[in-house]
Amino acid sequence: MTVASTPELDKNATTVFGQISSMDHEQVMFCFDQQTGLKAIIAIHNTVLGPALGGTRFWNYAHEGEALRDALRLSRGMTYKASITGLHLGGGKAVIIGDSRKDKSEALFRRYGQFVNSLNGRYITAEDVGTTSADMEWVGRESKFVTGLPEYLGGGGDPSPFTAYGVYLGMKAAAHEAYGSDSLSGKKVMVQGVGHVGEYLVEHLHKEGAVIYIADIYEDRLQAVASRFKVFTVGADEVFSVPVNIYAPCALGGTLNEETIPKLQCDIVAGAANNQLEDETEHGQMLSDSGILYAPDYVINAGGLINVASEWEGYSRERSLAQCERIYDRTLEIFRMAKSKNIPTSLAAYHIADERIRKIAAIHARR
Ligand code: NAD
Repeated sequence: MTVASTPELDKNATTVFGQISSMDHEQVMFCFDQQTGLKAIIAIHNTVLGPALGGTRFWNYAHEGEALRDALRLSRGMTYKASITGLHLGGGKAVIIGDSRKDKSEALFRRYGQFVNSLNGRYITAEDVGTTSADMEWVGRESKFVTGLPEYLGGGGDPSPFTAYGVYLGMKAAAHEAYGSDSLSGKKVMVQGVGHVGEYLVEHLHKEGAVIYIADIYEDRLQAVASRFKVFTVGADEVFSVPVNIYAPCALGGTLNEETIPKLQCDIVAGAANNQLEDETEHGQMLSDSGILYAPDYVINAGGLINVASEWEGYSRERSLAQCERIYDRTLEIFRMAKSKNIPTSLAAYHIADERIRKIAAIHARR
């Protein structure tokens, strides 16, 4: 059986529209405000299943092309994440260009909120790398299309603990597949990036008795986590030189590529970062050929989306946790499908996510 591969960004596209069309986005909005210094890109990938929900990333991109590429790839990932998780949401994502440690202000976030609002609910935003629930409170002053609000405003607060819980369960499912037991006790796990999600993940791993290695580009983060748990700290550029059972990418995307995959010394890749595979098709295949079990990122890191989606529909912490727990079986289902069709796990996940969208698009077309 042939399974269509994930539409990938056309690396040769030299125009903005060339890039947008290569992954089939519905809409991309460029937001600029001289006074506040706001430079943002909102990418809406697909709204067949519902409004496009995805966080706002605040990142110091090397250039604007890199920011566009990130917004396009991240929003596509949100489409598949919502679909495979069974949520009634589409995929979108936004990036704000700047240094989150220096360039944030109330006015900037409120101006950004006005742009979000102008989309009339086609895009719903939330926090992401470089933004917090408190920032979303500012966005929320100008638009009701915001989720991931602080608990004192009736929101579900920081989605990271839910993301980490799902990643932990997905990792256990991968251990079950690779080792015949889902126990992580004594397993060596490398957590790359100990920010919001990484730290909660370390907490789960610590409770289960895993041997934990952590790396981060910020020494203060590294030390903060090392002071709470029994861990080994590793330099950010040494992540691939330590032999481990499980590599958990919890920093930024694209860490699985031509250069890094041959260096991997692990049996399993299971982490929180979005877009871990630099190229979904090529690098998913490379991992599979190397005998490394890959737990697809958007399958196991859906806990945060589950939680913010629950907030959108009327928040229930219990419902969010119950939905997160399904990640374990869903991950096993993907491994089963990959094995039976002899395809990489990344492709199996894409196939399931894409099929749901196609089926719903078809019934809408019949209306
Ligand atoms: P965060 O910004 O709180 O943490 C990321 C950490 O990674 C930071 O401490 C940063 O210093 C570190 N880092 C960056 N580059 C690194 C490198 N090269 N090597 C080592 N460390 C590095 O972000 P987060 O909210 O914890 O999210 C982590 C990842 O998980 C992101 O890719 C994000 O998109 C994804 N994710 C997060 C959520 C969520 O609920 N927060 C949900 C789904 C996916």
